[in-house]
Amino acid sequence: MNTFGVIFASTKLERKNTMAIIITDECINCGACEPECPNTAIYEGADDWRYKDGTSLTGKVVLTNGSEVDADEAQEPISDEIYYIVPDKCTECKGFHDEPQCAAVCPVDCCVPDDDHVETEEELLAKQRFMHPEE
Ligand code: SF4
Ligand code: SF4
Repeated sequence: MNTFGVIFASTKLERKNTMAIIITDECINCGACEPECPNTAIYEGADDWRYKDGTSLTGKVVLTNGSEVDADEAQEPISDEIYYIVPDKCTECKGFHDEPQCAAVCPVDCCVPDDDHVETEEELLAKQRFMHPEE
């Protein structure tokens, strides 16, 4: 394989391995990440979350993964102790920024790729357009 072939193959591999971001238990609850999220996917521990928060979603909607949800309905917190990220709302900042904004501001580097939520760049962009069709 020539140099261009190696670069192309490497780029394809990276695009296949994009994923949502998760906050680890090293979080110190500083709150710096929450206002930076363009999808309102970050919530303080013990707070309820909603699909409609910070998005255009309202009422009954079918997500890009095929699930039907009520965007207005309060959902159970994913963590009671530390800030958490809703995987269904995280696009790894695709469509808004070149890099995850939560990871960029976190003082203890505890916003890391979530191996349990691997999505392609196309899937993340589709999710972003679904939540923000007007942007
Ligand atoms: S990666 Fe971006 S979209 Fe995902 S939680 Fe962090 S700031 Fe929000
Ligand atoms: S910026 Fe980092 S330490 Fe601060 S609340 Fe967010 S995840 Fe936790």
